[in-house]
Amino acid sequence: MESALRDYELQDPTAVIYGTDRDAGEVIFSAHLFEGYTKQGANDNISGSVVILDVARTLNTLIEEGRIPRPKRNIRFLWIPEFSGTGPWVNAHKELMGNTLCNINLDMVGLHLSKSHSFFCLMRTTFGNPHYLNDVMEHYYSYVGETNREMIHNRRAGGFTKRIVPPSGSDDPFYYKIDPHYGSSDHEVFNDLEKRASSLVPRQTVKVKEAGYQGHSRIIRELPSEITDRYPVISLYDTRELSRLVNGKHSALDIKKLLDTQSTSESDLQSIMNYLEWLKYAGLIEM
Ligand SMILES: [Zn+2]
Repeated sequence: MESALRDYELQDPTAVIYGTDRDAGEVIFSAHLFEGYTKQGANDNISGSVVILDVARTLNTLIEEGRIPRPKRNIRFLWIPEFSGTGPWVNAHKELMGNTLCNINLDMVGLHLSKSHSFFCLMRTTFGNPHYLNDVMEHYYSYVGETNREMIHNRRAGGFTKRIVPPSGSDDPFYYKIDPHYGSSDHEVFNDLEKRASSLVPRQTVKVKEAGYQGHSRIIRELPSEITDRYPVISLYDTRELSRLVNGKHSALDIKKLLDTQSTSESDLQSIMNYLEWLKYAGLIEM
């Protein structure tokens, strides 16, 4: 088998509802159309792509018909290949990034929640990138959740108080969950993480060989909890392979891509970077 890396022309479709103040910056909705051309799942992520298309259509109609005022900021919609499209797009629009209020990224929002024993999750931004919008969104979720379920104190009102029923799909209660930051989708790029990850190039130290075959796994196990707590590793499927990919040439972002091509599960970029911090603390790599 022959394989090669080739340059190609990237197409990132984008649409904008212009605000009244062109200097006020933007709110950017994003959803990845695919993860590499071969992964075009109905849930992951045609669902998110369709939802932001419908958000655009609804907002545009309401504004055009004068039913809601035109917003101050531009509202942008972005359909991109996950990471491989978002990273270059963000890098090509640095000035705009400096004037962007937030990114709202939708990924896998088509799941039947009750059948899948799942939740509609809101991922907050990182602690290093706090924002009041986290709390605004959390209250919005909680409002929709409270008004879309049976409540004991509200029984006389007859169940759901402000029920949202989609024309097609389920009329289940709104099962939601507010989670701390978790990566593995395009919001990560807007968090500046990808930029850091692409400039972080770890290389092994001599200590790797000193410890002997797999000797470093003992060193990792004995890391103080102060380090493992400060750099949590949540979703990382093959730490051994990660260590092998450290060669002084691959960036942390390259390592994520290489790991993801070898696995059916996706590794979390923040977890990879945190694991590298472990290796660095253990003296096994330098960055
Ligand atoms: Zn996805």
